[in-house]
Amino acid sequence: MEILKRTATCGDLRKSDAGKTVVLNGWVHRKRDHGGIGFINLRDRYGVTQVVVGEDAPAELAEIAAELRNEYCIAVEGTVRPRPADMVNPAMPTGEIEVAAARILILNKSGALPFQIDEKTNANEDLRLKYRYLDLRSAAMQDRIRLRSEVCFAVREWMTGQSFYEIETPTFIRSTPEGARDYLVPSRLYPGKFYALPQSPQLYKQILMVAGFDKYFQIARCYRDEDARGDRQPEFTQIDIEMSFVGREDVLAMTEGLLGHIFKKTLGLELPTRFTRLTYEDAMERYGSDKPDLRFGMPLRDFAPWVEQGSFQAFKDALAQGEADKKAAAAKGVTASGGGVKALVVKGGSGYSRKQIEELEAQAKIYQAKGLAWMKVVAAAACGGGGSGAALLEGGVSKFFADTAGTAADGDLARRVIAGLEAEPGDLILIVADSRRRVANTALGAVRSKLGRDLGLVPGTGQAGAETGRFEFVWIVDFPMFEFNEDENRWEAAHHMFTWPQEKYHTVLESDPGSVKGDLYDLVLNGYELASGSIRIHDPEMQKRIFNIVGIGPAEAEKKFGFLTEAFKYGAPPHGGIAPGLDRLVMLMAGETSIKEVIAFPKNSFAVSPMDDSPGEVDQKQLEELRLRIVYPAPAT
Ligand code: ASP
Repeated sequence: MEILKRTATCGDLRKSDAGKTVVLNGWVHRKRDHGGIGFINLRDRYGVTQVVVGEDAPAELAEIAAELRNEYCIAVEGTVRPRPADMVNPAMPTGEIEVAAARILILNKSGALPFQIDEKTNANEDLRLKYRYLDLRSAAMQDRIRLRSEVCFAVREWMTGQSFYEIETPTFIRSTPEGARDYLVPSRLYPGKFYALPQSPQLYKQILMVAGFDKYFQIARCYRDEDARGDRQPEFTQIDIEMSFVGREDVLAMTEGLLGHIFKKTLGLELPTRFTRLTYEDAMERYGSDKPDLRFGMPLRDFAPWVEQGSFQAFKDALAQGEADKKAAAAKGVTASGGGVKALVVKGGSGYSRKQIEELEAQAKIYQAKGLAWMKVVAAAACGGGGSGAALLEGGVSKFFADTAGTAADGDLARRVIAGLEAEPGDLILIVADSRRRVANTALGAVRSKLGRDLGLVPGTGQAGAETGRFEFVWIVDFPMFEFNEDENRWEAAHHMFTWPQEKYHTVLESDPGSVKGDLYDLVLNGYELASGSIRIHDPEMQKRIFNIVGIGPAEAEKKFGFLTEAFKYGAPPHGGIAPGLDRLVMLMAGETSIKEVIAFPKNSFAVSPMDDSPGEVDQKQLEELRLRIVYPAPAT
């Protein structure tokens, strides 16, 4: 078959090319006829060029042109000519020219399309994923996949420039749970045995440090068999990094350098050379989240100072109960944070309707808050003791903090609340109280996030961070090492079990795990966790202690992680690392809110690929070779 190879792409030609004979290859993007003249928008990865089949075209050419439908793959030979002045399209890079076709060759036809390329507003996600090859032809998808490729290149460029080696680690490994469930691969050669797909290259990168490789990176695929929810993908990609002989600041600085390079190279943006650092505790207290979106302020404030002076019993009870719980925990030698009453000031929010406040309350309740108290500021806090008699606070719980300007016997409580919260007339004050300080913080933090979106303080979907150039990075440091799993009544690692506990907690590791901080850090970008990492344990004894605390006894530890503790016996260097999520990074750079938009072939929200229909059944013969038998659940009766 004759191909008629292109001499230019559909994005190349300009006015200066007028007169040239060219061959273009591409897809029919749109086609229209105007009084016997055929206009074909020919598209490839590089752009769109207008091809014209004139009225006077030979019959053979006119016939082929008439046969063309959208997405036919064709070759066009013709002459570049300037467009008539009234046909110039300044929105198109090739908008000043057109190609007068002399010959068109149909390289392949296309069936009727499930959706028009670039006009898929009606195409639901499954349809897009079933015909992903068509979806990927859209300019937006092409652009995002280009960005992803450029980001990968920038990663390799910077990392190798810093003397990192790119080293591949295996995809078939021993099942060494890191927190999530493993995907398992049955071994045909060893019936009854399984490989696991790595949740991350964690143990291998640490062992590479033992092997003396010092600085490692890999653009690594990770697999986690978790329930499909939100924007999770069963497989995703990390920029996996590990370094020897480093402390936390070395890893953070290296990551700042890497991201600075990526943003500069691909978006032409200068990032700060050093990102803000916030402790986990400060992040929770100020933003009610360990992944705060710092594109807007609206910090949470402590309302506790006014609880005693006011007369709202529910607030008092929350603090009293929190104090009692704290004492009870202390009696057992365990650290607990007590209760909390936290407030948020919504600037100019006094016009909020009851319904709007109820919606915010519903958000708080998802995070276990019992309710969302509110009051509105109606007069200036600093208006002196004028004695006008007007209330300063109104509605909701205001009467419990009531104070008529200059007249209250308790002396200006409302005024002090308003001044303390830095509120102004016209503001709305929202308050969550709980005997668990964490609940007060996280619930109000969720309200803050919703307000950020509702008030347009952060761009919504389609309003790219990239478009607005707003990228707010923040490091969250000093995380707790362990979290208590109430369902299973046991401690588990907050990040993973290979994190080094900060030195000062080594004596209380077993007695008060809840108080222990790890040498552990997260990088947050615009409210998303972009990277996690830690300084690692390199001492086999400490590793055993941590396994023990998270309920992995010596026998199990030996069976699952024996190879790691064994490796640590041979002069393991101190080391640490991090793993920025590539999908998330590109998603945020592209201004998207789903990682599916930046993965060529993602699964849908149910972990299914509508294109190849995986996961799929396999032949009985395959099962027999693997010595597997499927036990289907009994049908519901
Ligand atoms: N392996 C870790 C993860 O996947 C990242 C790291 O600690 O480097 O979250």
